[in-house]
Amino acid sequence: MHDLRALNLDRLRSEQFDVLVVGGGINGAGIARDLMLRAAGLRVGLVEKNHFASGTSGKNSQLIHGGLRYLKYGEFHLVREALRERSTLLHIAGGLVEPLQFLIPCYGALDRWFYGAGLALYDLLAGSHGIGNHQVLSPAAASEMEPDLSAEGLRAGLLFYDCRVNSARLVLENILDADARGAAVANYVEVHTDGKSTEATDILTGEQFAIRARKIVDATGSWSNGAPLRLVRGSHLIFPRILKGPEAIAHFDLAGRIVFLIPWGEAGELTLVGTTDVDHDGTADSVHISQAETEYLTAIVRKLFPKYHDGPVSSYSSLRPLIAETGRSATETSREHKIWETRDGILHIGGGKYTTYREMSEELVDILLRDMTPGRDYPCKTAQTPLNIPALPKDRGERVRMAVEREYARKLTDLLYVSTYWGYERPLTADWTAPLEREMANLLQTMP
Ligand SMILES: Cc1cc2nc3c(=O)[nH]c(=O)nc-3n(C[C@H](O)[C@H](O)[C@H](O)COP(=O)(O)OP(=O)(O)OC[C@H]3O[C@@H](n4cnc5c(N)ncnc54)[C@H](O)[C@@H]3O)c2cc1C
Repeated sequence: MHDLRALNLDRLRSEQFDVLVVGGGINGAGIARDLMLRAAGLRVGLVEKNHFASGTSGKNSQLIHGGLRYLKYGEFHLVREALRERSTLLHIAGGLVEPLQFLIPCYGALDRWFYGAGLALYDLLAGSHGIGNHQVLSPAAASEMEPDLSAEGLRAGLLFYDCRVNSARLVLENILDADARGAAVANYVEVHTDGKSTEATDILTGEQFAIRARKIVDATGSWSNGAPLRLVRGSHLIFPRILKGPEAIAHFDLAGRIVFLIPWGEAGELTLVGTTDVDHDGTADSVHISQAETEYLTAIVRKLFPKYHDGPVSSYSSLRPLIAETGRSATETSREHKIWETRDGILHIGGGKYTTYREMSEELVDILLRDMTPGRDYPCKTAQTPLNIPALPKDRGERVRMAVEREYARKLTDLLYVSTYWGYERPLTADWTAPLEREMANLLQTMP
């Protein structure tokens, strides 16, 4: 098996590109794929300074959702757009995106009516893109679904649908699809650009080289310096299985913030709990859960499931790169996206949600091609062209091989937190990681 990264690095050093996409999160991935599907012959490069999907896009709540909570802020168009995209992603990324039922336990006297009205609106906004209308359950029926859920004061349960996603793998599949269609993609390549000249560093060797590109797209999310961003940290805890049933729980805390408990892990043996919303005062390269966030999420688990006593096995945190708005809290700041060009000619994309990446990419590529090839029309094809998602091997060794040979994994963390989420399933010990590290090293050594 050839070293695809080395081949693409050769191309990045030597070719003249039409577009260079900087950032291998979901936005960069979606843009590169959209470009390759639309305009055959266009020379596109994509570089990522770490591993693909190692930023926010692989460490989020793993949901493709309309965003029930945005209804509270009157952002109906955002919800409608996201619900439409949810349906598109079910079609083009089936297998990675799948329907998930949510139970809202209602404890407050008015919760059933308040959240019930929200869900009725959610059903309405979904229209023909709906997965199924919401239902109201008696306390007994809700307890039957989740027998360990606190029954004290439980007045009703509300059921609704959204979707879950393996968010790191969907990034990978978009990038690998762009790669297969002729884009030159490389992880562990950091670039600095002023729009005219672009200097790249191969992080694995230290080698520096120039990349020639007519147009630069900045999809670096929280790392972007194209506008003032508000970096809001969100963290998740991973617990040994809390939920008895296959559904997720959507819990509204006393301030009306939504926290999800989602069945997780390859065999559903875990529960993902999140997220928080706190202003981040560190750099985008250093993001960790705080003690206060751990306590907040754990307290919700203890309140909802008083008989459950296990502690979390792991956690992850990432940043929302939101467009700064004065006078609004981290939770209230809009998830609206923005596409803009700075005076150096760099086209930036920021804000938004994972769920709407395809539509955001479409909008950016429309602008890009209109400027680069005036008078020519290249219709977007991403909504009609399913990703070619392979079955994952059951055998662990084969899975490691797939990560290295197909998915550009170069470090153990690439295997443990992107190709798979094995790293979150247990506290890591050297005994457990050493054989995987050896297997990766062997595979990397034998690549021509
Ligand atoms: C906690 C949390 C939970 C969320 N949950 C959901 C959810 O369930 N559903 C949903 O729809 N949305 C969710 N979101 C929002 C969503 O995940 C983000 O909007 C989206 O992932 C942002 O993608 P991105 O590609 O812009 O950024 P990123 O994924 O962060 O990608 C940017 C990439 O650029 C790279 N980079 C930076 N600088 C350089 C450089 N100089 N050279 C090369 N590469 C560089 C970085 O390494 C990074 O990989 C959540 C967000 C957070 C924080």
